Amino acid sequence: DAVVHWFKSDLRLHDNRALHAAYQCAKDNGVPLICLYIVSPEDWAAHLTSPARVDFTLRILGQLQRDLGELDIPLYMETQAKRKEIPDRVVALCQEWGAKTLYANMEYEVDELRRDAKLVRLCADSGINFAPTHDTCVVTPGMLHSQQGKQYAVYSPWYRAWLAFLKDNPDYLELSEEPGSNPGDAREKFKSLFKCEVPTAPASHQLSDEKKKRLEKLYPAGEHEALQRLESFLEDKVKDYESNRSLLPGEHTSVLSPYFASGALSARTAIVTAKNMNKGHLDRYDPGYMAWISEVAWRDFYKHVLVNWPFICMNKCFKPEHTDIEWEYNTDHFQAWCDGKTGFPIVDAAMRQMQHCAWMHNRTRMVVSSFLSKDLMLDWRRGERHFMENLIDGDFASNHGGWGFGSSTGVDPQPYFRIFNPLRQSERFDPDGEYIRHWVPELRDVSDKAIHEPYARGAGAIAQKNGYPRPIVDHAQSRERVLERFKRVLKG
Ligand code: FAD
Repeated sequence: DAVVHWFKSDLRLHDNRALHAAYQCAKDNGVPLICLYIVSPEDWAAHLTSPARVDFTLRILGQLQRDLGELDIPLYMETQAKRKEIPDRVVALCQEWGAKTLYANMEYEVDELRRDAKLVRLCADSGINFAPTHDTCVVTPGMLHSQQGKQYAVYSPWYRAWLAFLKDNPDYLELSEEPGSNPGDAREKFKSLFKCEVPTAPASHQLSDEKKKRLEKLYPAGEHEALQRLESFLEDKVKDYESNRSLLPGEHTSVLSPYFASGALSARTAIVTAKNMNKGHLDRYDPGYMAWISEVAWRDFYKHVLVNWPFICMNKCFKPEHTDIEWEYNTDHFQAWCDGKTGFPIVDAAMRQMQHCAWMHNRTRMVVSSFLSKDLMLDWRRGERHFMENLIDGDFASNHGGWGFGSSTGVDPQPYFRIFNPLRQSERFDPDGEYIRHWVPELRDVSDKAIHEPYARGAGAIAQKNGYPRPIVDHAQSRERVLERFKRVLKG
């Protein structure tokens, strides 16, 4: 007999609801706990998971395996070629190990819900106890609604409801204990499982050696690193977070998103740690903590949106009328945007930051998403896809939410007539051009003032000499075009 915990995007031992329950169950019954992870290249391909995120996941699995090994808990990993067969395979493994109970945390994307619904049915037919656990959000999706019983489509009232809910239900902020030593003798009974190796990335998702090393340095794997980053951010930088979070030079945010996305860090742990350090308050006392807590809550918000309106997983706009917006399909423009060669220094710096680090600052994510969908008038879904294919923190709900905001086609979007001006954003959030200079070496010798717009401010000769392109569109003209196209569908 045994109990199984199936890891998905919850790659940690600390504060993991399903893992904790699995451990308790094994302990109560005095049987071994076995952990499982299934690598699914088809899922990675279908969900556009970036090679950076695949590499990060595999690195975390190595760390997780070592940590579990110290507790005499095996982590069995295998690659499953056909994603449709994953539920059958999970059941077959439980049967092979004689496990009558299976635990796993829930994922809310449509494919994952379908997969788990099938698994629930198969388990019921096979006499295996299985009910997925809610864990990834601080407040479980479905718990918040307006007084009229409606789902929130606007962040501010949703956030007030989120805060009120946590005040009324403090148990939602209780952290789960980490597992201790395996209650059953797994070393003896399941010897071979301890010899399992971390699968390698499929050929389609391999990183070059150089990039792999770079990302290993930028984002060391595992929950120990995540918890350390959390602590040092909250001790040090959070105080200035409210005022500095949008500044582009320097590092003023936590850069914890890769750890949240892979589940190496629990959002609950992040909120509880911040709350404790903020004298027990979520929405009072220190503005830095308050701002950071409300930012982490955006992650919950977008997951709630996904659960309430699952059709957004199908490439659909949140509001049907936006489906009719006329987009451009200019391949050269799209390529220039991807390559950081649009002639708009702030946009180019950000796109090159993503190429190099597989991560981008939130401010510039807003700038480049607005630029793609409004200045270039390209379909926002092309940008959404490109982000998923390149980010180490690519997360469907947050990415979709961010693109909906930037392109004014999503839930609680930026109003369509408020169009980011790349020049103003650049002057405001990178006043001395330090961020641009770092990522766009062609402009290193350009003065502080001219760097935001070299060709219009007397630095055209340097820019040209160094091969920096002229702007590929005119912002003022693009602005008129996008306003007209939105007005057309909203009136019609
Ligand atoms: P911090 O400022 O330290 O914030 C802490 C945490 O709060 C983040 O790690 C993240 O989990 C959460 N958070 C902060 N802002 C947001 C937000 N606007 N939406 C949702 N969660 C938020 N975030 C992702 O995790 N994955 C994505 O794929 C993603 N794509 C985005 C695409 C666009 C177009 C935009 C505008 C935003 C996107 N974001 C995404 C949200 C945000 O940009 C990143 O979470 C943030 O930049 C990560 O940096 P950080 O960890 O230093 O954040």
